[in-house]
Amino acid sequence: MSGRGTGPQELPPIGLGLWKIDRDRAADVVFEAIRVGYRHVDSACDYGNEVEVGQGIRRAIAAGHCGRDQLWVTSKLWNTYHEPSRVRAACERSLADLGLDHLDLYLVHFPIALEFVPFEERYPPGWVRDPGASPPRMHPIPVPLADTWGAMERLVEAGLVRRVGLSNCPVALIREIAARARIQPAVLQVEMHPFLAQAKLLRFCRESGIAVTAYSPFGAGSYVPLGMATAEDSVLGHPVIREIAVAIGRTPAQVVLRWGIQRGPAVIPKTVRSERLVENLAAVDFALDDPQMRAITALDRHRRFNDAGAFCEGAFGTFFPIFD
Ligand code: NAD
Repeated sequence: MSGRGTGPQELPPIGLGLWKIDRDRAADVVFEAIRVGYRHVDSACDYGNEVEVGQGIRRAIAAGHCGRDQLWVTSKLWNTYHEPSRVRAACERSLADLGLDHLDLYLVHFPIALEFVPFEERYPPGWVRDPGASPPRMHPIPVPLADTWGAMERLVEAGLVRRVGLSNCPVALIREIAARARIQPAVLQVEMHPFLAQAKLLRFCRESGIAVTAYSPFGAGSYVPLGMATAEDSVLGHPVIREIAVAIGRTPAQVVLRWGIQRGPAVIPKTVRSERLVENLAAVDFALDDPQMRAITALDRHRRFNDAGAFCEGAFGTFFPIFD
């Protein structure tokens, strides 16, 4: 993977996920993460905490824990800014909030284009056009992803972002974008964990020179509180994971993250707890053997927790499948 200028040339294998980190803790969590060794943070307009994430980054740099050029910062274009004329302002807003002059990676968050919501009306705008409507609904608009991609490419040319990439896209859509692209997608970010191993998608990306970031690397963990998964869906509680963890003296979380990075992708676990920041980062420090890797991969049950085709209807009154 190549990038312009200075900065990390490779996606650091373990990053900090920033979804659902409250604004009042985000600066401290990011500062602590960088202090203990994280060099990759996964931000997004939609997470609503980019101002505080930026404060944490700047505090850590000021304290000498890392230089800007050692830190990989990802952010994401939200669904309401897919019209090509909106893309640059959306990116500049994330940069201003983060207090940075460039991003290492800017992703199209979802292949879903929604009607524009002005910054001054609501930021981040979320999924529904009018939260006060009865019922609130998404307002999809017909913007080809290739047009959005053209505007993403112009961000690279303008020096605002080092690389551009896609998220939540299946192979056919990536092929479509790649076929027309002047600047190829550098990274694909998708849900990936032992219950959704995505072997073919991973192979396609490897053979196409696209790096992969695995989101929700623990599987159900972040979806149980949202009512989108149950305790039975737990990857960390699965007997195979627990047995391997006991056998090698590691925690289930470390085993799952290690499996994740040993297959090639980066992982971006989210936590606000200092001891878990350290625990999760230590997944780089050991290896699983081939039988252990195969046993974990065999847990695949094609279980997708973050499925727009399921959650959009319940949460936002709009049927909107993207993977089916
Ligand atoms: P995750 O898989 O990181 O799981 C988070 C849950 O695991 C939390 O409940 C946390 O308390 C728990 N946890 C963390 N460390 C642990 C440990 N050591 N032991 C036990 N439990 C532990 O879930 P996620 O937040 O959904 O995904 C990670 C990141 O991926 C997000 O924060 C976000 O940055 C990104 N993401 C991107 C998209 C996208 O559409 N591109 C979607 C979802 C998530």
